[in-house]
This record gives sequence, C-alpha cells and structure tokens, in this order.
Amino acid sequence: AAAKQAEERGWQLYLVGGAVRDLFLSDLAAATTDEGDDRFEEGANLFMADIDLVVDGFHRAADHAAGVELARALQQQYPSVRLQIHGRFQTSALTWHNDPTLNSLWIDIATARTEFYPYPAANPEVEASSIRQDLYRRDFTINAMAIRLTAPRSGEVLDFFGGLLDLQEQHVRVLHANSFIEDPTRIYRAVRFAVRLGFEIDPQTEGYIRHAIASGVYHRIQTEMAKFPALQTRLKQELRYILEAPYWTRAIQRLSDLGAICCIHSDLQLTDRLWWQLRLVDRWLRQFDTDHQVEHWLTLLEVLLAELEKSDRVKVAENLQLPADSIDRLQNLDEMQQYLQSHLPKCDRPSQLYQALIPYDLPTLVLLAVLVPRSIRRQIWQYLTRLAPVKPLLNGNDLKALGYKPGRQFKPMLEALLAVTLDGEVRDRTEAEQFIRD
Ligand code: ATP
Repeated sequence: AAAKQAEERGWQLYLVGGAVRDLFLSDLAAATTDEGDDRFEEGANLFMADIDLVVDGFHRAADHAAGVELARALQQQYPSVRLQIHGRFQTSALTWHNDPTLNSLWIDIATARTEFYPYPAANPEVEASSIRQDLYRRDFTINAMAIRLTAPRSGEVLDFFGGLLDLQEQHVRVLHANSFIEDPTRIYRAVRFAVRLGFEIDPQTEGYIRHAIASGVYHRIQTEMAKFPALQTRLKQELRYILEAPYWTRAIQRLSDLGAICCIHSDLQLTDRLWWQLRLVDRWLRQFDTDHQVEHWLTLLEVLLAELEKSDRVKVAENLQLPADSIDRLQNLDEMQQYLQSHLPKCDRPSQLYQALIPYDLPTLVLLAVLVPRSIRRQIWQYLTRLAPVKPLLNGNDLKALGYKPGRQFKPMLEALLAVTLDGEVRDRTEAEQFIRD
C-alpha cells in the first residue's frame, strides 16, 4: 500500500536498514543450512518487526516532507493505524496495533536525507544520488542496503557499499574513516552487531575505532553530552541494547578490549573487580527478580557508574537521563554503604537484619552487595534468600477471628509475630496463635 501511494505521487520508496540486513541473513541461513553450515542462523533468527522505509520524492511545500505525506495517506487508508510524527527531520512512525496478523508492527517512514530538489525526483540520477546519500549516512555496510519497493524497478537491491559481500563474509565495516569521530555511539553499535551476529569487526574498521578513541572522542561525548541531547539518548539506547541482551558479557568484554568503556567516563575501566561485580549482580538479579520488576540493564549500568567518584557518577547518570531513583541511588551510595557496614555487624538476630534491610529495594541491595565486604554481603544474601520471602503466619482477619477488635494495635502485633517467626521462635499457625494470646 505504501509503495502504491508513493507511485501515485511519482516518488520512489525503499526498504532500508536492519530489515534488509535481516532479510538477506535469513536468505543466507536458508541457503547454508542445507549444506550443514549454521553460521548465519543466529542473525537470521533475529528478524525484527521494525521496518524502516525511505521515500525519495519531490515535495512542494518546504515544511511538508514526503515521508510525512505518505504516512498520513496510509493512515487515512488504514484508520486503525497510529501515527506519530517526530522532530526536526519529520520522520513518521506508524504502528499497527489492532490488526492481529501484523502484531504491533512498527513502520518508520523517513524522507531521503538530502537537499530538497527544486525539480521532480522522477529524474533517475537525482533519485539514485539522494537514496545513495541517505544510505551513505548510515553506520555499517550491512545496514546500508536498500530494496526498491516502487515500480518499475521494484525488487531492485541497492548495495552501493558492498553490504551483501560483508554479510557473506560476516564483517562489520563502516562506510568511511571518520564515522566514529562523527558519531562515537557507533563504536557501541559495531560491537553490538558483531557480537549479536557472531561477525568480526573488519580490521580497518577496528583501526578507525581505536584511532577515534585515541584521539579522545570519548572526551567529546562527555563534554558535549549536556549540549546534545540526541547524543545522550543514543548512548543510553546503545547501552541499554547491549546490557539487556543475552550476549552482554561478550559485548562488554569486547568494548573493554577496544578501550571503549571510557566512552561512558574517561576514568572507567573494566577491572577484574568490576567484571566480578557485574556478573554477581546479574546472577543475583536473575535469582531474586523472579517477577521481573527490575530493569536489569539499568542496575548493570549503575554498577559501572558506581566505580566513579560520587560527583562524576551522578553527573554521568544525569547526562544519560537515567530515572530519578537510579540517580538517587548513585547519589546516596556511599552513605548507604557506610550505614550497612556499621549497622549490620550489630544485628545478632534475623529479625534485626530484616528490620535493617527491609527499607531497601532489590536493585539497591544487589548494588550494595557488590560494594560491601564479604561478611556484609553474606548478610544481604541471608536476607534475600531466607528472610525476605518469609510470609506472615497470621493476618488481620485471623486476629479478628481470635477475638481481637480491629484497630491500631494490629500492626505492632503482626510485626512482633513476624519478628519471632523470623527468629524461629514461632513455626506454625498454632504457635502463632498462642504467641498472640500470650
Ligand atoms: P536492530 O535489528 O537492532 O533494530 P537496526 O539496524 O534496525 O537493528 P536501528 O537502531 O533500529 O538498528 O537503526 C535503523 C537503521 O538506522 C540502521 O540499520 C542504520 O542504517 C541506521 N542507523 C541507526 N543508528 C545509526 C547511527 N548511529 N549512525 C548511522 N546510522 C545509524
């Protein structure tokens, strides 16, 4: 339908970016599985629902981009579609929520990012050069291919930079030497695609990454982050993609090998201790966050930031626009750590430990657990495994059934009961009822 709308206006429409990459990956997987070669399977299985379209068209009113016009036309055709138009470049996102066959499909429609032409784009040279320019602005050759969707040459593959060959050879390759200087978050993207797809970063590209880092590009991220919100959003997004992926350990290791961890902050290094902290937090979260209440990626990022001096860690967290509770946690980390270190050794009874730790939520406890000495960590572990899951043996209704009048005294009665339950002095309902009567 989008292609038809574009054709009616004399425009060209292309499928671009990740969807094209994933289509070719699934082709490669299908072609190689018969030969017992499963190299492409991982990438092919990752076909995403996001579809990026680029429209290349002449538009009359300067403030009315072709992509937006096309998206509006599609919305009229399919009224259940939700349309959002963002930002300066007037890209539009269409989401299908109601169509069961399309299962919340996202379609981004952008206008080819080039100068606006004073004459119709029906001229094939202009078309070719504008889609080519649009693709040239992209990150890697494997993400810079397009498939034309409009007649008469629909189905034509546009691969100006050797993306298909790089897919076959499993290489992540940038399009030009300055790519990482222009946008340092591409370093994180290179690692993400390499690890996720099981590809190599092409040696020359790796050289560009190392050169960008050696030239202090990370310094630019840190100093310019406050001025360029788009850079913050991109860095945070990339960190999130990496830290929530199943392959995050390999990606972090690779970023560290490239010296790219310092893009978060120049003092940050993946020491053995930091590495151990990250893995421990990951294990504990997987064990204790059974109802998936915690954003694991965010807690892992907090572990990284906890390495920094207080003022730096808060500044980076603010620049990255982390949620307020993350920033608070990083702000109060030293005080909380000192409190636990001085207070927990005095907790002789389980109920005292429970009282001391109940105010902290799970992300705070796991973060503190990797910062405190071993004996304190053991107490946090004891709390999480044995004390936090303890259910009260009686509730308010049980107290009423025992003949007590509901009122303010219920709370301290139940708290006292929980304390003796935690301390093992009361083990079942009968003993609990006896305790209440006593
Ligand atoms: P995924 O499958 O992870 O969504 P994707 O390739 O679709 O992969 P997106 O982050 O959605 O990744 O980006 C869509 C496309 O936009 C990419 O394929 C790439 O062509 C381009 N792109 C995204 N980020 C950048 C960047 N920082 N620099 C240049 N091009 C980018």
